[in-house]
Amino acid sequence: MGLSELQQVRYSRMTIMEEVGEEGQERIVEGRVAVVGMGGLGSPLAMYLASAGVGRLELIDDDVVEESNLSRQVLYTEEDLERLKVEAAYDRLVRMNGECEVVVRGEKLSSGNVEEVVSRSDVVVDGSDSMESKFLLSDEACRQGKPFVFGAVQGVMGEVGIFCPEGVNLGVMEGEGSCLRCLYPQGLRVPDHLSRCDVVGVWGAIVGIVGSLQALAVLQLFVYPHRLRMGCMTFFDGMTYGSESMEVPKVLGCEGCGRVEEREKKGREKQR
Ligand SMILES: [Zn+2]
Repeated sequence: MGLSELQQVRYSRMTIMEEVGEEGQERIVEGRVAVVGMGGLGSPLAMYLASAGVGRLELIDDDVVEESNLSRQVLYTEEDLERLKVEAAYDRLVRMNGECEVVVRGEKLSSGNVEEVVSRSDVVVDGSDSMESKFLLSDEACRQGKPFVFGAVQGVMGEVGIFCPEGVNLGVMEGEGSCLRCLYPQGLRVPDHLSRCDVVGVWGAIVGIVGSLQALAVLQLFVYPHRLRMGCMTFFDGMTYGSESMEVPKVLGCEGCGRVEEREKKGREKQR
């Protein structure tokens, strides 16, 4: 279909990049992304995705904006206090980019809605501070073969991971195709209350860094997925400003991506 004249101007700083071009931007414009959690990570995530031209954003969160959120959840203003985050986010994002379709769900991610949320998106992103949500989303993404972008923060430390076990089948990645559960087989590495900013504290700028890295990963997934390091986790240290990446080895029989293994096996048998 090609980009409109307005889109050519608006996205010119991206299309000018050799690796992106108009073709890459067209894929972003057609892209559908689900963002679960509209707090510190969800704020920069949704803003960078909407401004970069992502076609459809589905935002999931049942919280309201509180005074203590404003120090890091940069999507919201003082006028948004006590409003549902997804509704305040909607108002701001459609003003940033009127061409971005923003769909909001003022509900918690649960086993009852996760299948629909994932099936309606090309990429799912975790901006939540709940371990339960993270694994729910990761497992469903594995089941449906969708890329999953993980993010977490604590104090001055940040983590980002891109996973897509199915990517091996699709030819967009090499290796074994691990998932979040391969890294944390026990599921809950830390008790839920220890992962929450209201208990351990956090710098706003750190969630900004991690949320921005997640947004970058999503955009790159649309443009050149084969060039990304998937099944890989990166840790950012806000004291030294250093980062370290590690491949996540696939755990055989993993409860998250194990089903994908089964499908791959069946696929290979069929080919024979
Ligand atoms: Zn796994």
